[in-house]
Amino acid sequence: MAIKRKTREEIGKMRAAGRIVHKVLQHCRENCKPGVTTKELDDSAYEVFTAAGARGLFKNYPTYREGEGFPANLCISVNEVVVHGIADDYKIKDGDIVGFDCGVQLDGWCGDSATTVMVGNVAPEVRKLCETTEAILMAAIENIRPGRKWSQVARIMQNIAEREGYGVVRDFVGHGIGQTMHEDPKVPNFVSRDLLMNDIELREGIVLAVEPMCNLGTDKVRTLADGWTVVTVDKKPAAHYEHTIAVTADGCEVLTDGN
Ligand code: MG
Ligand code: MG
Repeated sequence: MAIKRKTREEIGKMRAAGRIVHKVLQHCRENCKPGVTTKELDDSAYEVFTAAGARGLFKNYPTYREGEGFPANLCISVNEVVVHGIADDYKIKDGDIVGFDCGVQLDGWCGDSATTVMVGNVAPEVRKLCETTEAILMAAIENIRPGRKWSQVARIMQNIAEREGYGVVRDFVGHGIGQTMHEDPKVPNFVSRDLLMNDIELREGIVLAVEPMCNLGTDKVRTLADGWTVVTVDKKPAAHYEHTIAVTADGCEVLTDGN
């Protein structure tokens, strides 16, 4: 495993990419209303990051199996879709939760962030799922600092989710990020034997995309026939939040919060 640590200057470039990602997600949040199709949101998101001079990282992202790369600009994941949903003619309805995941590259450096938008009257238990998943990301941010092992942070994240009885998705994890979107290390939201044997010591200059995914029911997921869309096996809703985060000398800095 080769973790590339970034200089202050490189982190500055990643923040510039992160600002555009934040702008795209803000645009999605404002426009995610009943009656709007996910395709309309995907198209307008493309306009937002292109106007800012960035390149989207998701369109044509290669698949691990035969066939086409990812066909859309964002991942838009509605209700039981956990991640990697593909925009289409689906019209958003009151009560939906809609995950938006955006990655862009600017001046050679990447930013990656995701949020889940609650549309109108969301069922209380689903609202709590979203709020808790976002709180899990915030708890990770509060606990990332040099000298910590990632497993210590992951345990905190997992405990919050499991205390609420949520399924913690095992099949997808966060990742290192830099000049490419996916770098070493893998950044799980749970503690496994594998993580404990290959733990990551957090050091200044490490940049991670941390992305908790929680399911209202089972942690089991499956991929649809399109090769991308990941859904919960029990069709209960899932929430997903993500930030690109740089480890600093005394803590961490969120690069995708719009600052
Ligand atoms: Mg992402
Ligand atoms: Mg990511």
